[in-house]
Amino acid sequence: MLAIGMLRGKAGVHTFELPKPEIKQPDEVLVRVKEAGVDGTDFNMVRHNLQDIAEGRNEIVMGHEMVGVIEAVGSDVKSVAPGDMVVFTVRRGCGICQPCLHNQSDMCMTGLYTERGIHKQDGFFTEFVVDQEQYVVKVPGDLANLAVFTEPLSIAEKGIEQISVIQSRLPWACEHPDHTYTSPDWGKCKTALVLGAGPLGILATALLRLAEVHTYVADIVPEDSHKVHLVKHMGANYIDARSKTPKEIVEFCCSATANLDIVFEASGAAATAVELISHMSRSSIYVMTGIPREELVIQVDAAQLVRQIVRNNQVVVGSVNSNRSHFEMALKDIPAINSRFGGMLEEMITHRFKLEDYERIFVPTDQNIKTVIEVEP
Ligand SMILES: [Zn+2]
Ligand SMILES: [Zn+2]
Repeated sequence: MLAIGMLRGKAGVHTFELPKPEIKQPDEVLVRVKEAGVDGTDFNMVRHNLQDIAEGRNEIVMGHEMVGVIEAVGSDVKSVAPGDMVVFTVRRGCGICQPCLHNQSDMCMTGLYTERGIHKQDGFFTEFVVDQEQYVVKVPGDLANLAVFTEPLSIAEKGIEQISVIQSRLPWACEHPDHTYTSPDWGKCKTALVLGAGPLGILATALLRLAEVHTYVADIVPEDSHKVHLVKHMGANYIDARSKTPKEIVEFCCSATANLDIVFEASGAAATAVELISHMSRSSIYVMTGIPREELVIQVDAAQLVRQIVRNNQVVVGSVNSNRSHFEMALKDIPAINSRFGGMLEEMITHRFKLEDYERIFVPTDQNIKTVIEVEP
């Protein structure tokens, strides 16, 4: 079968043939990939030649976002059957630490995990995948066309969950009793700034807007770009960060409510991400999800920064990867996002390719939001 990935010691992206995988254990499933999503991690792997290939292998299949159909199941498999639409989770736990032993490999304590399509394990830019039943999540039949968003949305879900968990520490600065972090409209009277209008920033914005958060999105693209159209379509406000300092961005967001309750960093722009900490509001939370790839040294007033974080009870938290529970949240929210924001998810797909188009898939373009590889339409 055809696969797209990286070859040891060779830069760039390549195609190669692999034998079709087979079920060897009773708890395994064989899945035929229908669609696979390409995201910033994949682009960065190619651009920066980030190779983490398993020992004894000369190649790794890329791709960690997918939807597929169960082709066959092992004798012990109970939760899915041939014909079911499914998505795979990405990380495979270390098998040692308590989070990994309790279905939270996204919080792995040892760092000895692997990840399909990123770290040591073959990914989903191919035709067939075999894995254990525990890593497969069943997709409702009517979500077939949008389920490729499950994994990227699960990353946003985990970030938003961090906000909810951490801000349960306070009534959250609002006089309305139904605007607490436990209600579906928890975001009313709250303001958020999302940094970066890439797929993750847009999906985080969608979740914030579903919860009625006043949301501002900052990026460095012109007002007339497709990203900005999607941001505004969800009732969020766009800020062109090229014309504002971090201080001015925050002042602009705060003008409506005086407080910036949430910062969701999804750009990987390290300098702006760090400078923004200095402008956090009291008792606010800052979730970082972007991963800068290049070295960047800036000067900060460390004493001022520490003083401010302590005195204002601020939380800066990193959030990476996601576990099964976040995939399940994502599958619930995909229809809500799509109906509330009128086909927004479909509009995010700017490019569609076949596996055979591998050379064109990773050519960066200005208007790219989400690229989908149609493996088996
Ligand atoms: Zn672990
Ligand atoms: Zn309120």
